[in-house]
Formats: sequence, C-alpha cells, structure tokens
Amino acid sequence: MRTAFFVECGFYKKSVDTPRYIRVSRQEKNDMKKIVVLTGAGISAESGLKTFRDSDGLWEGYNVEDVATPEAWRRNPALVQDFYNERRKSVLEAEPNAAHLALAQLEEKYEVTIITQNIDDLHERAGSTNVVHLHGIITRSQSSKNPALTYPINGWEIKMGELCELGSQLRAHVVWFGEDVPMIATAAEICSKADLFILVGSSLAVYPAAGLVNYVRPNVSKYIIDPKIPHLGSGDHFIKIMKKATVGVPILVSELLSAHDL
Ligand code: NAD
Repeated sequence: MRTAFFVECGFYKKSVDTPRYIRVSRQEKNDMKKIVVLTGAGISAESGLKTFRDSDGLWEGYNVEDVATPEAWRRNPALVQDFYNERRKSVLEAEPNAAHLALAQLEEKYEVTIITQNIDDLHERAGSTNVVHLHGIITRSQSSKNPALTYPINGWEIKMGELCELGSQLRAHVVWFGEDVPMIATAAEICSKADLFILVGSSLAVYPAAGLVNYVRPNVSKYIIDPKIPHLGSGDHFIKIMKKATVGVPILVSELLSAHDL
C-alpha cells in the first residue's frame, strides 16, 4: 500500500503519493556521494524518548535551567545527576526505530555522515558508522573539571562521589545550555561538503546547531522530515515531508537507494 502524505515543495503544498513526489533522478543519485543528515530529538520520539519542545518547553517535566545548565550543576549537582541518570536509563531501554535503521542502510550506497543533536546512542545501535554527536552522548561520563576527559559508564548510573582522574565529580558527557559545543566547527565543515542534506526531527531552536543548515551549499538538494515543519528562514529550498520520522525517512531512503548505479 502506498502512503499518502503532505509534501511541500517550494511554494506549493499537496497531498501526494510519496514516491512520485520525492523522486530523485538517476543522474542525481550517481553524482551524489556525500549525504549529510542532521537529526534532532524528533527522530528518537517513536523509540519512546520524549522530545524537548513538544511538551511546552519542559524536558520530562523539568525546566532546562534547572537541569541542563552549569548554574544548575553548581546549585544542585545531585538533582542534575539524577535527571541524567533517569534519561540514561530510558536510553538504555529504548531501541532504534525504523528511521534510525533506514539511515544506517543508506551507507550501502553513499558516504553518510549523521550529525546528531541527540544524546542517545540509537544511530550507532542501528548500525550507522559515522555519527557526530554535537551535544555529547549520555552513555559516557565526563570530568567536571576537564570536559575532554570522558569515560564509559557501567550501567545506567553515575553516583555522587564517583571521581575522574583529576579528583573531580563525574557528570554526564552532554553539552549543557551555555557551554561550548566543541564539535560545531567539524560539523559545519561536513555540512559544507554535502551533496545532499536531510534534516529530521529538529525544531531548529537550539544554536549553534540550528545554524548548520546555512553551511550547506545553495545548489544542494535539501529535505526536511518533521510532522511540524519548523521555521527555516526566508528563501529556503527544502523539500518538506510533513510526516513522522518512521514513515518519512524509510520512504526517502528507499528512493535514494533504488536504481543507483554504484
Ligand atoms: P526539539 O524537542 O526542540 O524539537 C523536536 C522536533 O521533532 C520538533 O520539530 C517536532 O515537530 C519534531 N518531531 C516530534 N515527533 C517527531 C517524529 N515522530 N518524527 C519526526 N519529527 C518529530 O528537539 P531538538 O531540535 O533536537 O532540540 C532539543 C535539544 O534537547 C537537543 O539539543 C538535544 O540535545 C536535547 N534532547 C535530546 C533527546 C535525545 O537524545 N533523544 C531528547 C530530548 C531532548
């Protein structure tokens, strides 16, 4: 059965049979080598991990200022530690969904780099081999003195009193609001070399990650998959697939993999 959904191309919007309207020419497929995918919390929503902005600016019931800033850590480290321990537990219980799996499949025929704002490891567990974590990864811990010192975590919990080699408390290896994003220059460089760009499940409200779309060259085809398309700025040329990730991503991936000469 073919799925009918809304695809908004340029200035028009129609209900369509998806494959026909997101068709990529054979020539285009053969010319494209590097696919860059920028993902946000929306891609993991159907794995049971809640997004951030879909719930009134709260993250699992918390204001981000209370759990995801250096000030929050200074004020109440135990609360912040507990919050990320609970997030880690949910991540370990979650499974990659059809969208993560489809993106991993793209590697059969393309050089794929996934740049994710997510702190979960679902892209890796789906089989993607080239994943840049802009905001860190919750399955590792980090020194609270030197962010470059990170460690694997045994299980779901970092306990208060567990110290890094410098003697400071271990915390989650995630980038908090107000902290530097060390991978941003690398990510911008990757975006500038994309032959095709796909954005999945991000409100584009968190900077500097949201600015990455501006590094993609203007002549490059750009797709966005999100049931609620965010504001993309004036003059954007995104092909808009207004659907959940588990529906939109597999359809686009199957179109990109079909009839490819490589
Ligand atoms: P966001 O919460 O601000 O926006 C989520 C976006 O996903 C929205 O545009 C929404 O319409 C879309 N969406 C919701 N359900 C979807 C679905 N089923 N398929 C496709 N799209 C869907 O997310 P963000 O832009 O990534 O920013 C949130 C920040 O919070 C990130 O920097 C991230 O580090 C953190 N965060 C991470 C996780 C995670 O790791 N899974 C979860 C929540 C928040």
